[in-house]
Amino acid sequence: MLEELFDVAFGGDSRQRLLDAFHDQHERHEEHRKEQDQESDHRPYIVPHKLAVVAKVASSQSAGLKSEWSESALSLTRRARRINRELAETYPHAHCELDFRNPLELSVATILSAQCTDKKVNEVTPALFAKYPDAAAYAAADRAELEDLIHATGFFRAKTSTLMKLGQQLLDRFDGQVPSTLAELVTLPGFGRKTANVVLGNAFDVPGLTIDTHFLRLSERWRWTDNTDPVKVEMDVAVLVPRKEWTMLSHRVIWHGRRMCHARRPACGVCPIARLCPSAGIGEMNPTAAAKLVRSPSQMHPEWTG
Ligand code: SF4
Repeated sequence: MLEELFDVAFGGDSRQRLLDAFHDQHERHEEHRKEQDQESDHRPYIVPHKLAVVAKVASSQSAGLKSEWSESALSLTRRARRINRELAETYPHAHCELDFRNPLELSVATILSAQCTDKKVNEVTPALFAKYPDAAAYAAADRAELEDLIHATGFFRAKTSTLMKLGQQLLDRFDGQVPSTLAELVTLPGFGRKTANVVLGNAFDVPGLTIDTHFLRLSERWRWTDNTDPVKVEMDVAVLVPRKEWTMLSHRVIWHGRRMCHARRPACGVCPIARLCPSAGIGEMNPTAAAKLVRSPSQMHPEWTG
């Protein structure tokens, strides 16, 4: 019956895309309904203040349809955790892509990564770390020399000032050591909440969510939050996923954003979490074309890269 109705209104590819979108949406609603039925007997993940949240989204843009995605807070939590598990399987080697050996090196590398790729930072840091092994070295740095060493990372004058001030404050206030609490880290030059969480999670094994541009984009696409402010996004996501998962979740989300869920033309057609994603269809849906959009395919799960 449905096929017949579409036959009257549409023809060829348009009809098929519309039918596919309809069936996908129907399957998602069915999956959520089943999950909610199963979970009514045991409720391990209830987030009380979010129980009234109903997310409405437009999806299936590739088919030109408007549809709604709505779910309970419980279902949202379950879906977020399933996305995390799927990403863990897809990116089993996800890690911080900045090279470092200690908290100071990671702090410096993270400061240099502002408006710069991790790859470029990693090209610069071996010589930098050899010449500036501790906080005292940065505090006493020759400005021109330091500027020259980090020139390739961009904004080198401002970054040089930040590194010299950081070295001095570490000496003055923390005996030359990088502190290991969020409250202390965010008082340091060059440290916002994002940098602090990177250092906490990767140098001190203290779980932290790194809300960068990829995390913001993907958490919006996944309807994990209605907020756009990084701190509010961090708070919203923190209640969805167990604390011990925060650091690895951050790596997985960032890897997925860098490799597949691009800002422009995400590779939806080969995305391992498409069935869990309210935005599936905003990018390339043809599997062959989508596979060509994936970066670093050797690091992907073989099932998704063909
Ligand atoms: S690539 Fe597409 S399906 Fe996958 S997470 Fe991004 S928007 Fe969703």
